[in-house]
Amino acid sequence: EAPATADITVSGVTRSFGAVKALQGVDLTAPAGAITALVGPNGSGKTTLMLVLASLLKPDAGSVTIAGFDPLVHPAAVRRNTGWMPDTLGVWESLTAREVLVTMGRFYGMDRDRVRSRAAQLLEWQELSTLADQPARVLSRGQQQRLSLARAILHDPQVLLLDEPASGLDPGSRIRLRDDLKQMAAAGKTILVSSHVLSELDEMADLAIFIQAGATVRVEDLSQEGAAGGRYLISALD
Ligand code: ADP
Repeated sequence: EAPATADITVSGVTRSFGAVKALQGVDLTAPAGAITALVGPNGSGKTTLMLVLASLLKPDAGSVTIAGFDPLVHPAAVRRNTGWMPDTLGVWESLTAREVLVTMGRFYGMDRDRVRSRAAQLLEWQELSTLADQPARVLSRGQQQRLSLARAILHDPQVLLLDEPASGLDPGSRIRLRDDLKQMAAAGKTILVSSHVLSELDEMADLAIFIQAGATVRVEDLSQEGAAGGRYLISALD
């Protein structure tokens, strides 16, 4: 069996916004073929870290590799290998579901015909075909998150970063998200998913990395029998 590879490595990453030290020395690795949960209370730096990993924000110090590339040296290679699912669709909500995918495809420089067919395929996979020409803002939270997942994997990235994807989802949508992510992990993708509540993720994650005040404080293998420690820790953090 091939040795496990780590598609995400982070070492000593710091990032401040003015006087706010959002990240104060983050170290972590996330293995390929697994779902890693990034867990910490609101304001602990999860989104900031994900933006750094997605090559959308530069760290002040420290180093990062994504699929073997340093975002500061090879930002285009990192974008090609990374799918980013923010916590909401934001301004994209004014586009139709299909336009969201086609516009993102253009951003990735994908061929027009390939984007069209890939968009249709992803809309069908997420059971959004009948809503394809509706503005995304009229979709339910669950449907919007399914669209957002389709957008994140449009270019078939190796690494998937999801910011609070389970937040505000009904139980059925949460199970669906879990099954989709598990399928992608089984196909060898590297998946990092954040939450401020571990219980949202403990049914799907293989590993939990706890972050507090901008620093990683603990790693727990959730696949181990009786791995309940994390649950107690996070209730203490909340
Ligand atoms: P989390 O995702 O865990 O809730 P964030 O990464 O969003 O945490 O925020 C970490 C800290 O950095 C918080 O104190 C937040 O207010 C601050 N912060 C994040 N982004 C900005 C920004 N663009 N400008 C100023 N402060 C920010």
